[in-house]
Amino acid sequence: MASEELQPIQGMADLAPPEINLWQRIERSSRLIFERYGFGEIRTPILEKASVFIRSLGDTTDVVQKEMYLFEDRGGRKVAVRPEGTASVIRYVALKGQDAQAARLYYIGPMFRCERPQAGRKRQFHQIGAESIGGDCAAADAEMIAMQVHLLREIGLRDFKINVNTRGLPEDRVAVTTGLRQALEPHIPQLCDDCRRRIDTNILRVLDCKNDGCKAIARTLPTVTSFMSESSRNYLDEVLRLLKLLEIDVNVNPMLIRGLDYYVHTVWEITHPALGSQDALAGGGRYRITISDRTVEGVGFAMGVERLIMAVQQDDPSAAKGDAKNMVWLVSFGQAAFEENLKLMQALRFRGVRCGMDLSGRGMKAQMRAADRSGATAAVIRGDTELNDGTFQLKDMVDGVQVTVAMPELLERLTSKLTIS
Ligand code: AMP
Repeated sequence: MASEELQPIQGMADLAPPEINLWQRIERSSRLIFERYGFGEIRTPILEKASVFIRSLGDTTDVVQKEMYLFEDRGGRKVAVRPEGTASVIRYVALKGQDAQAARLYYIGPMFRCERPQAGRKRQFHQIGAESIGGDCAAADAEMIAMQVHLLREIGLRDFKINVNTRGLPEDRVAVTTGLRQALEPHIPQLCDDCRRRIDTNILRVLDCKNDGCKAIARTLPTVTSFMSESSRNYLDEVLRLLKLLEIDVNVNPMLIRGLDYYVHTVWEITHPALGSQDALAGGGRYRITISDRTVEGVGFAMGVERLIMAVQQDDPSAAKGDAKNMVWLVSFGQAAFEENLKLMQALRFRGVRCGMDLSGRGMKAQMRAADRSGATAAVIRGDTELNDGTFQLKDMVDGVQVTVAMPELLERLTSKLTIS
């Protein structure tokens, strides 16, 4: 058992080969799809003024109250390590003003929440997200869900479910809050402590409480949409109609509210059966965020990469292995061959061939062992005889067959078989 000091912080993980192959594949697929839909990448700072998150996510939300890494820096400034991606993108869009009016931006990177670590729940996790700014219309929401479905399919997932609901507009809030409060009144003694507090601070959260007793009560309540204006209900209907037009199956879930205060109209969550109790693969919604007197509206989503990976691995346990990569190992007998091989290795790499050699001047046996360990599919062996003749011993590391070849044939064989394009 390695010493405690060598372990990363609880809830945070090293990402290295071979698992990283799958991460890279998912990131490549995401970039490909985002580009096709006209989205460009944004990389915002990981550390922000705490107010960026407190204002936009809402100061009664779990993320802000319980989970955000919040501290004062050496200059006494209140800063936060980003718990999610949207708030920073909105800060950027507000800063750019008119220039970012219809921006389409995506991000890929780590987020941090001080939650109790468990399967599928980390303290440093990674999100792939996208934001489409402006476009206050149902078609923009439907397009965003369609893009996300496209992306999940590109990654290789099939078995996911999309739950959709509406949060209505801020104008609906009074009616929704009053209606829910009245409906909940007789059940208050049976609610959990958190939900009794939520009645005054964030009543919608009662609807997605994980406590079984609260869940049973929530199921008896009228739907939030029943308290909303007709136009808010129509907006949701239009999103659903367009999704049907695009042949995307969704389930309308009146209990879905999503935890953050900034949502308006459409909200959605995507679940996958491989994820167990933390079954949310991704979440999204339309939002209206006011930051420093500027209000930004848009629609966006974020998917958890760790959870995507769990889902992909359930479908295909060997997914992390990555593509078998051809490689050639150069083996030298004597100092002159060593130096010629150094030059050859550089020339081959310039031509796109993956190759390596032992650099510490060890004997033949040790070099052949290193070739085996590297997973090389071919070895090129040279000593004084080969240098004098201008030839190479080319050994197939899989079947052990060795042939003598001259430079043109060596290049032809290595570049045609081994080039990674
Ligand atoms: P949220 O905006 O909180 O719904 O997060 C969006 C997605 O990020 C979720 O659906 C998860 O896939 C992922 N996610 C959120 N929190 C965590 C966490 N602590 N660990 C791993 N993934 C997370």
